[in-house]
Amino acid sequence: MSLPEQLLRLQQIDLAIHKMQQELDDIAYRLSDNESLLAAESRLASQREQLEDARKKQKALEWEVDDLHEKARRTDSKLYGGGTKNPKELVNLEKEIRSLRSQISNKEDALLGLIDQGEEMEAKARASAEEFGRLNEEWLERQETLGKRKGEVETALVELRENRDRLAKQIDSGAISLYERTSRTRDQAVVKVQRGRCQGCHITVPTSQWQKAKAGNIVQCSSCSRILSVE
Ligand SMILES: [Zn+2]
Repeated sequence: MSLPEQLLRLQQIDLAIHKMQQELDDIAYRLSDNESLLAAESRLASQREQLEDARKKQKALEWEVDDLHEKARRTDSKLYGGGTKNPKELVNLEKEIRSLRSQISNKEDALLGLIDQGEEMEAKARASAEEFGRLNEEWLERQETLGKRKGEVETALVELRENRDRLAKQIDSGAISLYERTSRTRDQAVVKVQRGRCQGCHITVPTSQWQKAKAGNIVQCSSCSRILSVE
């Protein structure tokens, strides 16, 4: 392998390392990104809380209605039991019964509303529980797949870095520093010359230049400064 070809090979390894590092970053992000799962969990928790509240309200209202029925029953028996003869008192008892019946009717309407609401809430909470279960399963699967891939990429990276070190040791240190300097400002520091043109900037490379490169010398494109490699 000529010097420019070695640098080209080094660049291929560096690009592969860079790509794998990006993949690792992406995996790390995806492994930690559980926003939608947490959102579904907190939605479910708050719906369950609301449902419990509604159930408590319903229970309290049921007791109130029972109490009112009991009061009405007692007032009824006072009115019709024959124990009360005083006409004024009888009128008051009738009034009380009317008031109790109207309260009962209002509270029973409210109770029906609460029951409907509770059923709606229950359906919502059930749907949220299913959604949470599905997301949780997906999350666990993703953790497993990503965890596996992470291991593969890490192993491949170790191998690539070893290859890079081995290759870098064989290359002249001046050429390596030129390559590294050029890499800082260019996506590709080494480019091929094809049909007489630099593949970095597409300018025609003078014949004398590419012949020098072909012979294994380090030649930089006069236009873009990239290192030229000629097969
Ligand atoms: Zn160029």
